[in-house]
Amino acid sequence: MSPQVIVVGAGPVGLTLSLLLDRAGVRTLLVERRTVVGARSMAIGVTPPSLDTFHGLGLEEELQAAGVPIREVEVFEARRPVGTLRFRAVGGAYPYVLALPQADLECRLREAVKRAAHVELRTGWEATALRIAESEAEVEIRDMVSQRFEGIVAPFVAGCDGPRSRVRDALGVPVARKRYRPRFTMADVADGTGLGDRARLHFAADRPVESFPLPGGCRRWVVRTGWGDADDLAEPLEETIRRRTGVDPGPIPAEARCGFTPSRHLARRFHRGRAVLCGDAAHGMSPIGGQGMNTGLADAACLARALVAVLHDGGRSEPRLQDYHRRRVRSFRAAAARAALGMALGTWRGVLASTVRGCLVAALLGPPPLHRRTARWFSMRNFSGAVSS
Ligand SMILES: Cc1cc2nc3c(=O)[nH]c(=O)nc-3n(C[C@H](O)[C@H](O)[C@H](O)COP(=O)(O)OP(=O)(O)OC[C@H]3O[C@@H](n4cnc5c(N)ncnc54)[C@H](O)[C@@H]3O)c2cc1C
Repeated sequence: MSPQVIVVGAGPVGLTLSLLLDRAGVRTLLVERRTVVGARSMAIGVTPPSLDTFHGLGLEEELQAAGVPIREVEVFEARRPVGTLRFRAVGGAYPYVLALPQADLECRLREAVKRAAHVELRTGWEATALRIAESEAEVEIRDMVSQRFEGIVAPFVAGCDGPRSRVRDALGVPVARKRYRPRFTMADVADGTGLGDRARLHFAADRPVESFPLPGGCRRWVVRTGWGDADDLAEPLEETIRRRTGVDPGPIPAEARCGFTPSRHLARRFHRGRAVLCGDAAHGMSPIGGQGMNTGLADAACLARALVAVLHDGGRSEPRLQDYHRRRVRSFRAAAARAALGMALGTWRGVLASTVRGCLVAALLGPPPLHRRTARWFSMRNFSGAVSS
């Protein structure tokens, strides 16, 4: 098969892009260095705009059956309930955020890619070099077992190869980076709390705790456990959760924990010549708020439209890719600002801050027009479709 697009990286974004190109009959080579999907706990929430995309791919029913719909988020301040965010205020076909671990989503997308008529998936192959010419691009790939190299030429290359993107480096695109101060620990564990499919945000004067249902009777806990690189937790994590929330999370084994200090990055440009960046290769934001993967999935939808238009209708690629860059930078900035604001709000410290936040949350979840806006905000159904365009 001589591909029309080479996609580097089969994370959620590269897989989705490949499936969207397949739907349009575009011959696609998808290159991924991992032979199996990573088990690391990352994204868990699939937002309504992403569910729209999966509906278009005929995957919506399978994903819905595998996930847990989060319809409401209960918010507490200093263990006092201050409001409930109801996603039904968003309306539409998906009045919820679907809780589905990223690894599970990736496995299902991989299976769909294997069934796709126009996609060749090569796992265990790594992209090692890139050469861009006037009307094509060449990617050098290496078989990670035999160490054999191969050069593949295609009209377009999409770098979906994550935050340390080699495609981005090969293009010489500079990246603006920022690191935030709060440090968090998250853990996915068996759920014996009896909370069922309820999600909860527990704010407090010093340490927020978030808790989300997961499929298979599990629950994710996210706790602020430090600042910068240092943890400041003086007691076992389970005890912190118990005291902050009044809920017993049960034992949280060390291997279920993952610490992270959020950061943000943005590539100065999303394309150069015939090579385009998509998902975390182009940008990244704080995981607090659950938007990084979903913003990447919206990139994939936007980029697929641009590539299909050029490949099917002809014309110059530069204006289409420039339009992709412009739209997606705008969406990224909106989502990243939201993520930073949500994280700052949740980590305000002190009794006064706690009182102000409690009043603010109660107001945002109060009158229906404001509640609706807040629900659209958290479900990424806002900015007049800018996030999904
Ligand atoms: C702790 C944490 C929690 C998160 N929680 C959420 C959340 O709740 N909601 C949310 O929306 N987002 C969340 N995110 C963000 C989300 O995980 C990422 O945005 C998402 O993984 C980006 O997908 P991607 O496909 O762009 O990149 P990746 O998932 O990084 O995939 C890139 C792929 O490219 C492959 N690759 C890399 N280089 C090469 C190469 N040279 N050749 C071949 N293959 C290559 C890699 O093996 C990988 O499979 C979280 C992130 C973290 C770290």
